Amino acid sequence: MTKRRQQIREPDITFRRLGKDRPTHRSGCKTPFGVCWKGTGRIHIDPRQSEEELLDTLVHELVHDVQPFLDEDAVDNIGIYISKALWKQGYRRIR
Ligand SMILES: [Zn+2]
Repeated sequence: MTKRRQQIREPDITFRRLGKDRPTHRSGCKTPFGVCWKGTGRIHIDPRQSEEELLDTLVHELVHDVQPFLDEDAVDNIGIYISKALWKQGYRRIR
């Protein structure tokens, strides 16, 4: 596989609270885990998540950005697939 690393733009990722309450999977929760302005590289992620959830959210929003026409289920499936693999391989944030 060849890579075109220098031709790919970097995403602009911001961690900030996206709602009053922390995001949860409970129905009725109004705070999103993350937001992506699809195709722009601009992504905001609510930091009030576990590290494993954060990784899933980041990958999910990145998939939205690079594949803006995929539906939510497809993005969800890809995001979970990649983030689970990364987590299992030991990838974590360094702060
Ligand atoms: Zn989504």
